[in-house]
Amino acid sequence: MDCIFCKIANNEIPSSKVYEDEKIVAFNDLNPKAPVHVLIIPKEHIKSADYITQENQSIIGEIFMVASEIAKKQGLKNGYRIVNNCGEEGGQTVKHLHFHLMGGRKMEWPAG
Ligand code: AMP
Ligand code: ZN
Repeated sequence: MDCIFCKIANNEIPSSKVYEDEKIVAFNDLNPKAPVHVLIIPKEHIKSADYITQENQSIIGEIFMVASEIAKKQGLKNGYRIVNNCGEEGGQTVKHLHFHLMGGRKMEWPAG
C-alpha cells in the first residue's frame, strides 16, 4: 500500500522513533510545530478518525496511554496537547490515522 505511515511502521522508510510496541509506533514529526512534536499511529492502516469502528476502537485508548507515557518521558510536566486532524477541512494531509502529541511551549486556543 502506498502509505507513508505504513512504510514508517514497517521500517521501509526511516523515522526517528520514540516508542514502539506490537500495535503502535510513535516518531518525531519531520516538521515540528513545538519543541516536542511526536506522531502516534496504529500500525494497522486506519484511514482517519472516521474509520474507527467497534472492532478497532480499543487502539484509541492504547494510543492515549502511550501518549501520556511519552509526555512523561519527554518531560512535559506542565501539560501537552493531543491533536487529531480528520479530513480535508480538519487539515489531515496523511491518510493514516495519527495523533499529534505536542508540548514544550504554551499552546494557543483555538488552534489555527
Ligand atoms: P496531518 O496534517 O495531521 O495529516 O499531519 C501529518 C504530519 O505528518 C505533518 O505534521 C507532517 O510534518 C508529518 N510528516 C509527514 N511525513 C513525515 C515523515 N516521513 N516523517 C515524520 N513526519 C512526517
Ligand atoms: Zn497506512
